[in-house]
Amino acid sequence: DSAPQPATLTNGFGLLIEAMKLNGLDTIYGVAGIPVTDLARLAQASGIRYIGFRHEASAGNAAAIAGYLTKRPGVCLTVSAPGFLNGMVALANATTNGFPMIQISGSSDRVTVDLQQGEYEELDQMNAAKPYAKAAYRVNRPQDMGLGLARAIRAAVSGRPGGVYLDVTGEALAATIDAAEGAASLIKVVDADPRQPPAPEAVSRALDLLATAERPLILLGKGAAYAQADADIRTLVEKTGIPFLPMSMAKGLLPDDHPQSAAAARSLALKQADVVMLVGARLNWLLGHGRSPEWSPTARFIQLDIQATEMDSNRAIAAPVVGDIGSSVAALLAGLGPQHTRPHSDWMAEILQDKAKHVAHMKQRLAADPKPMDFYSALGAIKDVIADWPDIHLVNEGANTLDIGRNVLDMQFPRRRLDCGTWGVMGVGMGYAIGAAVTSGKPVVAVEGDSAFGFSGMEVETICRYHLPVVIVVFNNGGIYRGDDINRSGSSDPAPTVLMPDARYQKVIEAFGGIGYQADTPAELAAALRDALAAGKPALVNCTIDPKAGTESGHIGNLNPQSHVGAK
Ligand code: ADP
Ligand code: MG
Repeated sequence: DSAPQPATLTNGFGLLIEAMKLNGLDTIYGVAGIPVTDLARLAQASGIRYIGFRHEASAGNAAAIAGYLTKRPGVCLTVSAPGFLNGMVALANATTNGFPMIQISGSSDRVTVDLQQGEYEELDQMNAAKPYAKAAYRVNRPQDMGLGLARAIRAAVSGRPGGVYLDVTGEALAATIDAAEGAASLIKVVDADPRQPPAPEAVSRALDLLATAERPLILLGKGAAYAQADADIRTLVEKTGIPFLPMSMAKGLLPDDHPQSAAAARSLALKQADVVMLVGARLNWLLGHGRSPEWSPTARFIQLDIQATEMDSNRAIAAPVVGDIGSSVAALLAGLGPQHTRPHSDWMAEILQDKAKHVAHMKQRLAADPKPMDFYSALGAIKDVIADWPDIHLVNEGANTLDIGRNVLDMQFPRRRLDCGTWGVMGVGMGYAIGAAVTSGKPVVAVEGDSAFGFSGMEVETICRYHLPVVIVVFNNGGIYRGDDINRSGSSDPAPTVLMPDARYQKVIEAFGGIGYQADTPAELAAALRDALAAGKPALVNCTIDPKAGTESGHIGNLNPQSHVGAK
């Protein structure tokens, strides 16, 4: 109700907005509707930037990536029940990846919801959120808005970051209280993400182990990128002279063309390393769980992580260093002696030799000029263009588009590559692109498989509506994995993995006033991308890829269940 209130009263809407502003949360990514429409309006009116999406998962993904890029929780706003559940996909993904975000959702009347009397959008949202969130809270009274938000902020950014759910009931939003009492209830969070220096003995243990290494390896993960300890991490790598491997979102922490990068010799480095230092990277499926055959069974591990329970989760950790990466790396640097900086010439030579072999092979693949294009020739064109635009954010999702893109597209700066992450999820593309464009104010290139793009494709309207400099490149091979599979039943339906052949995705952005391009050759793709980046406007390049190019599930085809009994 928009009737003017006496100056001495305030309500839940106003208190939540004031609490956000007090804590520097200056952007909301959301979808408006009952009961939060006025919250969005009032937030915008009070100077908070509101970015309205077409689907809550994209709003949540934008908030999550904003959190990753800024170390402050990104805020997503959703409506009750179905909108809340759509947002939960992103909240769960944020929790899994360690991205700080807060999903604030309106919810329906508790009195009827709790008695299950069939309320409009009835759902016990707080309890539904719990298994997927790092924490979940509910605010039932306006005077608790400030406290609820303070708890949500701390939970999102302290320790291992994650997704936090904050339920605000319709009644609590609308309820009025005395303005002075309301103002006094707000909390400005002090030191939300406190430093957690590691114990000195943990640091010594790690340094002692490192000194024994003949074939050491430093593995950088997105926790290291998140920590924003870029200069110290680079110094640690360069002072020790140890080869390093970046996980995909840690690319650019040191530039990909750094002489100590072992990325092009990944298999050899994992297999041969005798002492491995994990810096903000988990030994999960993406690293073969730290086990043979990818790793040597006798390798010993140092792990830098803020989460004590991460240690030994897959393999014994000989030297756990529990603390925040910034403090931990600084402590290691302070303890380095000549025993840590001696050259490992044979090991380095072995890596360089293997690297040279793979680099030559890659060069050949990129130079081949098949018609239609394959993933390599198209990515090669993008690689050349983004070399001239090192400051852009690169979003990358798909199967082959992701796996090959990770190897082809070089990063020069930290936190510029945003991809499918820990789950290997599809559908984060447009949300991440929008979150990156909004937080950085700079161009974003989203390299998307045609299937991956479909999950969040309607957000091109959002991109155009807010005039964001996002250039989407759709790798259109007409299918999930490949576009050439056949229907095994003989009916006229397409096969399960097949999408519309010869689809013209550029028309989608043209519908909203963006610029569409068609690219059939690497030269056309490079020209379109350069043109679009120079224009700084929303654009989409439909990039035609051979339907026969690509492999089932990209590089993770081994994860498809295989039965010994033949299919009927
Ligand atoms: P990747 O997928 O790149 O290997 P993961 O997401 O698996 O990275 O691992 C990141 C790790 O970093 C998580 O275990 C998380 O607890 C940790 N982490 C995140 N932020 C910090 C930080 N500031 N300090 C220390 N560890 C962190
Ligand atoms: Mg495809």
